Amino acid sequence: MSHIQVKNLSVHYDDCCALNDVNFEAKKGEFVAIVGKSGSGKTTFLHALANFIPFSGQVTIPKTVGVVFQQYAVFPWFTASENIAFGLENYNSEKQQQIIQEHLKLAELEDKKDKYPGELSGGQVQRVALARSLAHNPEVLLMDEPYGALDAYTREKMQQWLLDVWMTCKKTIVFVTHNIEEAMFLADRVLVLSNKRFIKELKVPFARPRQEEVKFTPEFNELRKEILRSINSAV
Ligand code: ADP
Ligand code: MG
Repeated sequence: MSHIQVKNLSVHYDDCCALNDVNFEAKKGEFVAIVGKSGSGKTTFLHALANFIPFSGQVTIPKTVGVVFQQYAVFPWFTASENIAFGLENYNSEKQQQIIQEHLKLAELEDKKDKYPGELSGGQVQRVALARSLAHNPEVLLMDEPYGALDAYTREKMQQWLLDVWMTCKKTIVFVTHNIEEAMFLADRVLVLSNKRFIKELKVPFARPRQEEVKFTPEFNELRKEILRSINSAV
């Protein structure tokens, strides 16, 4: 049974059509990555899933959705703990504290809990952002180029960390990136967005848990070529 289902989704901005008749499905606990050139409609697709923008068609998605975007993912005027605490007012203070501690630990930021985002590294800020989303225990996580601003080394560490977190929490994740290697390393399936719709779907065959080494195998390289070809084949 699918956890997210999208049928005949179209999005128009003024007179520009950003997505045309898109279909999509994700199973519960699946990690799906979406790749595509800049302007291909990746962010638009996530915004439609999150119900942030008007669209036509049918989107069926669980009520509790967490989002992590590249920018504006945390409040700069709140500390790491306060960011995680944001929106948890419905819980009593004991429960709030428990959730905050648990997620600081998950984000490996227990010793940085009183620091503001400006005092943290890019990778640490993105860990706060994900912890903040996960604190609400969403069924689905939508991530839009969350590591786009990180240096290559930090980015790889964050990918590994995200996989560890996902293996533990088993959320359904839709992850947008223009980085093909990142998509292949993380996901069960990679979808290529082009010409306003998904033009290709590739299953990622690598066993889990995945280690960095998989990126240096001929199979990884072959799949990378296939995805790249498909992106480049589109006009
Ligand atoms: P991507 O995330 O893949 O780079 P976007 O979803 O941001 O692509 O954009 C898809 C298309 O929609 C682009 O042509 C972009 O210019 C257009 N677009 C995106 N947001 C808006 C907006 N708020 N108003 C008008 N056009 C937009
Ligand atoms: Mg985008």
